[in-house]
Amino acid sequence: MAPYTPIVPFDVLSKRLGIPAEDIIKLDANENPYGPSPAVYRALANEKDYHIYPDPDSTALRQALSQYTGIDATHIIAGQGADELIDLIVRLFVSPGDAVINCPPAFGMYRFDTELNGGKIIDVERKADFTLDPEAITEIASSDRNAKILFITSPNNPDGSLLSDVCLRELLELPLIVVLDEAYIEFAGGSRADWVLQHENLVVLRTFSKWAGLAGLRVGYGVFPEWIISHLLKIKQPYNVNAAGSAAALASLSDVHHLQENVRKIVAERERLYPALREFDFLEPYPSEANFILSRVVGRDAAGLKAALAERGILIRYFNTPRLQDHVRISVGKPAQTSVLLDALEVVGSQ
Ligand code: PMP
Repeated sequence: MAPYTPIVPFDVLSKRLGIPAEDIIKLDANENPYGPSPAVYRALANEKDYHIYPDPDSTALRQALSQYTGIDATHIIAGQGADELIDLIVRLFVSPGDAVINCPPAFGMYRFDTELNGGKIIDVERKADFTLDPEAITEIASSDRNAKILFITSPNNPDGSLLSDVCLRELLELPLIVVLDEAYIEFAGGSRADWVLQHENLVVLRTFSKWAGLAGLRVGYGVFPEWIISHLLKIKQPYNVNAAGSAAALASLSDVHHLQENVRKIVAERERLYPALREFDFLEPYPSEANFILSRVVGRDAAGLKAALAERGILIRYFNTPRLQDHVRISVGKPAQTSVLLDALEVVGSQ
């Protein structure tokens, strides 16, 4: 089963809840509440080439990404979201019987794509503070010759913690392809995409879905050592990034200042939300470097809390897994949305 919660269209939710669609507050998928740059709408309206196939090499986009990341375009492949690149990497390196090391709690697509492609998942749980367990990973990498890929994420979804340089360096010594997923890095700073130039076994994944507000247009990219690029190009669908996605991503990169201002607002709002959540005696939030906050739910049912908020038109994420069944993840919204959420938590908390 796909690791995403099914999307219930706003008009359906609106009817079901008796709440106007525009009042529904969606904080369950780490989307950007400010949406795309205005430059994106202009670019989409002005794009002249919707009737012809897009450039299979995404040349203009990769060039612009090279400027944005400071890394030569020969190391970059664009994809239909980071999701597509996760699938491509697994397809390239995993044959039936091979294994992928996953470090839960983690983004669900690593498991999904591995199992879909006939691979086996080896879970190495994160520690109580959500840091990785490099000793356990090393033990598996050195004893299981079928282990091919390690997926790690910084900031990590769902808890928002960062991976240290020391830990990454240690993991890069292992005989594995290390995929560092930086989907949320713009909220934290300190990308390690340039480490790819020094490490032949490192891949860094990035996306326009979070900082640039383009989740619906599906544009991501990966920074790869050149030897991996040459193999990936043999298995990539030629027109994976469509004309609209490409135009929108280019327009976003022409308006980085505006988008960084939105990122700054989201980070400021996260810093307001975290202490506010701590005030509730039934919530124990974890500090986060991303655009969401994971919180333990104490003394009451987390699924029930999610359902009670949903009744009020506020959508948050509940994970039905043993480790996270007493947790919820809340994406950071606009200030007014935070206020509605906090008021609702007051009401729900007193019931
Ligand atoms: N990686 C992580 C850690 C994510 O949380 C997400 C989206 N939730 C993705 C990748 C997927 O990004 P995209 O929208 O670019 O496919």
